Amino acid sequence: MRQVTLIPGDGIGPEITEAVKAIFSAANVPVTWEEENAGQTTFDAIGELIPETLIASLKKNKVALKGPITTPVGKGFKSINVQLRQMFDLYSNVRPAKTTKGVETRFDNVNSVLFRENTEGLYSGLEMFDERLQISDSVARLTRVGCRKIVRAAFAYADKHGCKKVTAVHKANILKSAGALFLDEFRAAAKDYPHIQADDKIIDNMCMQLVAKPEQFDVIVTTNLFGDILSDLCAGLVGGLGVVAGANIGDEMAIFEAVHGSAPDIAGKGIANPTALLRSAIMMLHHLDLKDEANRIESALEATLANKEECTGDLGGKAGTMEFAQNIIAKL
Ligand code: NAD
Repeated sequence: MRQVTLIPGDGIGPEITEAVKAIFSAANVPVTWEEENAGQTTFDAIGELIPETLIASLKKNKVALKGPITTPVGKGFKSINVQLRQMFDLYSNVRPAKTTKGVETRFDNVNSVLFRENTEGLYSGLEMFDERLQISDSVARLTRVGCRKIVRAAFAYADKHGCKKVTAVHKANILKSAGALFLDEFRAAAKDYPHIQADDKIIDNMCMQLVAKPEQFDVIVTTNLFGDILSDLCAGLVGGLGVVAGANIGDEMAIFEAVHGSAPDIAGKGIANPTALLRSAIMMLHHLDLKDEANRIESALEATLANKEECTGDLGGKAGTMEFAQNIIAKL
């Protein structure tokens, strides 16, 4: 048995977490959950946004599954997600985007994995506001070691999974210093993988190419802000945030998470789609080397997604969250 930290989150988080737990239990997955939460709900209950018990659990288990957590916009506390990524140096944000049979989209042949640097760039937290001059500065700091780690993680993944191409995305024509550092590390890493095609694109062209011919991309690697935007763009190509997985991976720890938000508009109604969290949980099983369990749950999920009637409302079906989970369980 492997113990994993489970962070249900808030909004629809607890509902989709229950669905994933039910599916894991039905599939006899050898994983036990250690439940800890974070965010406003824990602050209201115990006066801590990221409780010490959660930090201790993460340090002990080194693997976690996390639901969405509400973040106040433009004020209030700093994103719990960003804090956890920085606290544990989870420098790779990994976002697969693959077309699924039954999930209607404009394209039927997308199969890419995006590696977004997760701790630096415009999300370094280096923000200043000069009251007198009314000027805001947000510093996009890149480090050589940070660039090296993310590009090497992308090539290592491509190598392990037999991918043919890694595309680096940047804005080195304008952001010359940051772009040069990132590309320098990308090209150095590429030399160690001569069997993988290394390609680079400027971010604006990349957006156009992705919405015109997404099938040309395999593994994509980029800095934090570009990756944040591109990963949602890629999600849109394959059915949206409700169906894609995400993982934050460092050298010591990995947190797998649904990439959508807490969906306050549908929270508590029992209609949220648990697919994104389930797919993140499947990624987690691969990480734990539980490949048979991962493949069995994935096949049952794919078979359910192929039949719209059995899915939640966002996918055109009529099932509630737990009914959708039961439809998956029936196919295990
Ligand atoms: P959101 O993803 O919560 O919702 C956007 C739209 O998608 C809504 O209409 C919602 O109902 C729908 N939706 C999202 N997930 C769904 C699901 N699983 N099934 C069915 N429909 C789903 O985005 P938002 O409204 O911009 O953000 C709400 C809150 O979530 C904010 O506080 C934001 O900061 C936070 N957030 C958290 C994370 C995270 O914890 N990883 C990520 C993004 C946003």
